[in-house]
Amino acid sequence: MRVVLLPVRCGECARLLAKAAHYAELQIKCPRCGTLNHMKAPSLSIDRRERLDEGSIDEKPAVAGRRPEVVADS
Ligand SMILES: [Zn+2]
Repeated sequence: MRVVLLPVRCGECARLLAKAAHYAELQIKCPRCGTLNHMKAPSLSIDRRERLDEGSIDEKPAVAGRRPEVVADS
């Protein structure tokens, strides 16, 4: 597993505000210049789950009419 910390910088004064591992959206206010920064992750692989749809249909034939024979033991 690989965790990349992305530096979150102020868009106005380029002050380092935070470091985030994974974020889709982030709102952070700069303590220096007071700019409210609204960041979005630059590259997020959203289309990952498309692959799961293919080949996941596993149809098994229902085993019917197969009963264990009851032997009356007397
Ligand atoms: Zn700032």
